[in-house]
Amino acid sequence: MAIVVQKYGGTSVGDVDRMKRVADRVSRTHRDGNQTVVVVSAMGKTTDDLVSMAADIGGEQPPQRELDILLTSGERISMALLAMALHERGVQAKSFTGSQAGIITDAVHGKARIVDITPGRVQEALDGGYVVIVAGFQGVSQDTKDITTLGRGGSDTTAVALAAALDADVCEIYTDVDGVFTADPRIVPTARKLDVVSYEEMLELAAQGAKVLQVRSVEFGRNHGVRIHVRSSFSYTTGTWVGPEEDKVEDAIISGVAHDTSEAKLTILGLPDRPGVAARVFTELADANVNVDMIVQNVSADGRTDISFTLPRGDTAKAQAILEPLLDDVDGAGVLVDPDVAKVSLVGAGMKTNPGIAAKMFSALSAADVNIEMISTSTIRVSVVVAKDDVETAVQAVHAVFGLGDDADEGRSH
Ligand code: ASP
Ligand code: MG
Repeated sequence: MAIVVQKYGGTSVGDVDRMKRVADRVSRTHRDGNQTVVVVSAMGKTTDDLVSMAADIGGEQPPQRELDILLTSGERISMALLAMALHERGVQAKSFTGSQAGIITDAVHGKARIVDITPGRVQEALDGGYVVIVAGFQGVSQDTKDITTLGRGGSDTTAVALAAALDADVCEIYTDVDGVFTADPRIVPTARKLDVVSYEEMLELAAQGAKVLQVRSVEFGRNHGVRIHVRSSFSYTTGTWVGPEEDKVEDAIISGVAHDTSEAKLTILGLPDRPGVAARVFTELADANVNVDMIVQNVSADGRTDISFTLPRGDTAKAQAILEPLLDDVDGAGVLVDPDVAKVSLVGAGMKTNPGIAAKMFSALSAADVNIEMISTSTIRVSVVVAKDDVETAVQAVHAVFGLGDDADEGRSH
């Protein structure tokens, strides 16, 4: 018997009717003879609503432990309702919270990492002929025994991690789009669905703002060789397969363009240019769990230098609070914050062996009159920071110059 893990996102279980449709689909998978595990997200905007209720009541920093308990309730509503809908269809189903399903995490509330999975109860229920439903996005801390959440979009990670632990044949990620696209179709209407994308490319796309999959889920997939199928819950068409590089049939140089408008740029002015200063700045930020991204240090003048970096916009106040006393200590000149930036990234495994990709990207941006504020690269990615107002123009220009769309519109200049 094949083991299939299916994950349904918030839109797919957005209301009672949609939940019923998911139940139909799950019943069909089960009746086809598969051992079926279903991971569910909270219905629609439930998580957002809970976050804003917490902010109204608990201020900007409500107790993290309580916030996590609150947020996990969204997924628990979904799991119980889906189990009921399955019973109604004559299918035996049992729902489990993350903790009951054996999702063991570290103790970092709000962005806990899975450290172990002990799916004994899940396996037992599967062997008993039940469809197993697991609340996504949550686990329990090994050390504190408290309930944790895995960060926004974390149900993807629950699903892929369970698929790995159960040695499932496939992990299907059901969403409201047909798969992974060459760019966000809302910005680039001619964006094309990718048939196959490699783990490495998907990691870069997800890390650079493509929201279909949480980054950690792709890491799990790669580390454990889980075949991931991202597809729409509103149709039966094939979506995008995420797998090893060998699975790619067409040898495209570029896979897609991702963009991210969730970061801010912070510049520390007049830091003394001597060993240990950068180490101290970034150690203190890391200790406070601030996830720093692109870092650029300027040429120094008179023994002083500026360092710019990007970080999640929501962490800006926390970073400033850390940096200001530190600047007093080392006699730095100040901190500048620019919240109105966006990051645009070009991703493709073929970059490794094809020179000139960055030059072509920068030329397209210049032709579109977009100024580049920062640049960073990996072996399969080129990212630039631009003004937030330029993000759509930049994505369109880069997508067009590499001919990524499937329509004659592509290739025109903007
Ligand atoms: N409900 C959570 C969120 O909105 C987790 C998820 O949907 O993956 O981020
Ligand atoms: Mg998601």
